[in-house]
Amino acid sequence: MASEKESLITVLEHKDIYIDGAWRPSAGEEVTEVVNPATEQVIATVPASTVKDVDAAVVAARAALRTWSRTTAAERRAFLDRLHQGLVQRADEIAALVTAEMGAPRQISTQVQAGLPIAVTASYVRLLETYEFEERIGNSLVVKEPMGVVAAITPWNYPLHQIVAKVAAALAAGCTVVLKPSEVTPLNAYLLAQIIDTIGLPAGVFNLVPGIGAVVGEALVVHPDVDMVSFTGSTRAGKRIGELAAATIKKVALELGGKSANIILPDADLESAVRDGVANVLRNSGQTCTAWTRMLVYRDSYERAVELARDAAESAAVGDPTDERTQVGPVASAAQRDRVRDYIADGINQGARLVAGGVEPPAGLPTGYYVRPTVFADVTENMTIAQEEIFGPVIVLIPYEDEEEALRIASNSLYGLSGAVFSASEERAVAFARRLDTGMVHINGARLNLLAPFGGYKQSGNGRELGVYGLEEFLQPKSLQLPA
Ligand code: NAD
Repeated sequence: MASEKESLITVLEHKDIYIDGAWRPSAGEEVTEVVNPATEQVIATVPASTVKDVDAAVVAARAALRTWSRTTAAERRAFLDRLHQGLVQRADEIAALVTAEMGAPRQISTQVQAGLPIAVTASYVRLLETYEFEERIGNSLVVKEPMGVVAAITPWNYPLHQIVAKVAAALAAGCTVVLKPSEVTPLNAYLLAQIIDTIGLPAGVFNLVPGIGAVVGEALVVHPDVDMVSFTGSTRAGKRIGELAAATIKKVALELGGKSANIILPDADLESAVRDGVANVLRNSGQTCTAWTRMLVYRDSYERAVELARDAAESAAVGDPTDERTQVGPVASAAQRDRVRDYIADGINQGARLVAGGVEPPAGLPTGYYVRPTVFADVTENMTIAQEEIFGPVIVLIPYEDEEEALRIASNSLYGLSGAVFSASEERAVAFARRLDTGMVHINGARLNLLAPFGGYKQSGNGRELGVYGLEEFLQPKSLQLPA
């Protein structure tokens, strides 16, 4: 097993970009620095690709599509299986890299950041065994064809998972891919390209052009030879991408922000619901699009819930993400740390009651982009901290009088990504969940199912990832009408 240091050096040796099955220098000279948010040290530089690089990558992807789109599901399945094996072999390195480039604690890096891409590739290998790419509807033969050349643009919070959720599904569908990972966390994308380089995937099927969103991302979105943009990131960037893509009527699948509500119904086990709810928000330092950042509590239980949330936040182990015991690491960047602190200051200024955490950095951590786990009580539903996505370890508690009010407050959001309902009665929780306008709801702390559709309602997006819905996002049906 490679030590953390060795594994980083392996990745740092690759300063090129990956186009048409080969590592080659970028057409430009600019580089992006990758900073370890726990040490504030630069740990790598990667090329900031140019518009010319984007062109070369799209040309390669378009050329590769001719043969890749005609491969059989069994052929593509064999490549995905090799990709899966490659991820399994390098799981420790993936975990170490995610910790180094965005600060996720080792526990999360191992179980989630490395674990999810492994599980997702396995799920697509299985799906390709049974998925029917053709069906008869009356006298029509419906052929599900690949969308074509896909631009995958991804964020930094679950860097490899978000890449693999797109790349595995797109490849399974017979699409070719140009990947633009987040400029904050490009190293995992390099590791993925290294694995892909070893599995014999035909040249041009997968291409990596790291760089900044405004240059590389936008060049991909406006490119006439890109057929589809699969984007995960902020609602702000998603709107811009939608506008730009309209000029060429490209398909755009968007996975955007969230401000999900956790509704603890009056009959729920309050202690475990609050504990699960706080843990959900602190996971990955609150940098999870689906985080249940608004906790809605029945008025009679509210003060008790505030105490429980405060205790849970104050007892969370904050610190060095390489320490196995750490539960909350730094946030991913200085900019993110400043943004989260501004929201905390905003909450205080708007009159919310700060019961844990605050703007000061945690004691004993002078270096690193750390934010104290923060709990706000007496939050009203229209305060900024109850409306905007903070993307940090900050949770707000809002009281409600009855279920109708809880439903109304939960729906009072531009977002509709996820949510949670806790109740002593699963039936009651499910009935309530059916009325929420969000793409996903977790009942009594149930975990994410990687075969079920993942995506949002309202301004949280318009696409679905994972499982069969994720595959079909990258397919377009063609109807052949046959003589009756
Ligand atoms: P971001 O929108 O700033 O960046 C995401 C990606 O888009 C990056 O690769 C960036 O370079 C690129 N980009 C930025 N502007 C662009 C433009 N004009 N054109 C093309 N590409 C552009 O988001 P972020 O800060 O990296 O990630 C955090 C956000 O992602 C949060 O809002 C979070 O909720 C969201 N997110 C959503 C999901 C989901 O599945 N719904 C999952 C994770 C994160």
